[in-house]
Amino acid sequence: MASSELPEWMETDLRQIREAGLFRSRRIFQPLAGGRCLLDGQTLVNLSSNDYLDLAQDPRLVSAASVALSELGVGARASALVSGRTIWHARLEEQLAKFEGAEAALLFPSGYAANLGVISAVAQEADTIFCDRLNHASLIDGCRLSGARFRVFRHDQLEKLKRELAKHTDAGRKFIVTDSVFSMDGLSAPLRDLCDLAEEFGASLIVDEAHGTGVYGGNGRGLAEELGVEDRVTIRIGTLSKAVGCLGGFVSGSEALINWLWNRVRTQIYSTALPPSICAAACAALEIIQTESVRRARLHELSRYLRLGLKERSRLTVPASTGPIIPVILSDPALTMQVARDLQSDGFLVGAIRPPTVPQGTSRLRISLTCAHQREDLERFLKALDGSLARNGESR
Ligand code: PMP
Repeated sequence: MASSELPEWMETDLRQIREAGLFRSRRIFQPLAGGRCLLDGQTLVNLSSNDYLDLAQDPRLVSAASVALSELGVGARASALVSGRTIWHARLEEQLAKFEGAEAALLFPSGYAANLGVISAVAQEADTIFCDRLNHASLIDGCRLSGARFRVFRHDQLEKLKRELAKHTDAGRKFIVTDSVFSMDGLSAPLRDLCDLAEEFGASLIVDEAHGTGVYGGNGRGLAEELGVEDRVTIRIGTLSKAVGCLGGFVSGSEALINWLWNRVRTQIYSTALPPSICAAACAALEIIQTESVRRARLHELSRYLRLGLKERSRLTVPASTGPIIPVILSDPALTMQVARDLQSDGFLVGAIRPPTVPQGTSRLRISLTCAHQREDLERFLKALDGSLARNGESR
């Protein structure tokens, strides 16, 4: 049996986490319909889920998953390469390729695994990666794991990036790595400008559409579709765990690129394939994303409504942010925690994001909407926010 004693260094670390007010407890959430969840017996409007299109509990996904579950069982039994790639994996990859307008697609165990694996496979020690400072941890970890030189840039200071790109004239390859939509700010990356720079300096552009897929673009293919640059992005990575309502990462591209990744990316080669039932559910979700654009339209309508409400209250959201991720910057970490607690008492689950996840002085509530929310939910939310801020001595 494992010892209940922690090594001293872990005890110390844990104590420091608690003393800094950063200890995270393990809670149990029960998802409910209508963008809600049950937590400790209380029904809450869930404003912190990534199920943007309300598909995770859609009966069509559940039924597709059930069919595959009874046909093929629960686990995939092996990595895709060895013997885990079933007909449902093949169907999903084919459907993803069609959806993305690409020759082929490749599945990964998660979006995290896709980012980590792809970047660490394409970039080598002699190369240089230019990585946006707001990029997700999985992109940053991929850059680190690759061993390549690693430069952080700001997408609001592209002149600096241009100078940096011009400086690197050595033999190594250059990569620009960015999220399409930054997960803590809801900001969109300037993909057109990044494409221009990548082309001017012979760099490859890698884009993670985790928060773009299903949410942006006329067909829901993401921000690259919305900005008309899909063909100019070298590698497009996506996740099935957010708007698609399932689990898994994917890359779409040419048959040749997919063949290369299949043979080279370690997070795909050395990890068990996704459960077939998840692939079947994702097939059903892609169908819905393409035929029910009303979900996307409603999501954006709700996002605009909430942003307007915050603006009327002079509540600082990140000005250029768009879409369903809406930060409310409160700056002070203790105030942010208190307001999140007040909101929970009033029936709303909202993420309180503090350093080191976001820079010092920018602690925030991070609201994410789904198309299952109602305007009335948001009206009540705004009132509850007003009430909490007033109680905490924060006037408008
Ligand atoms: N990229 C971004 C921008 C994300 O926000 C996340 C999830 N938080 C991921 C990648 C990882 O995706 P997954 O949850 O599918 O591993």
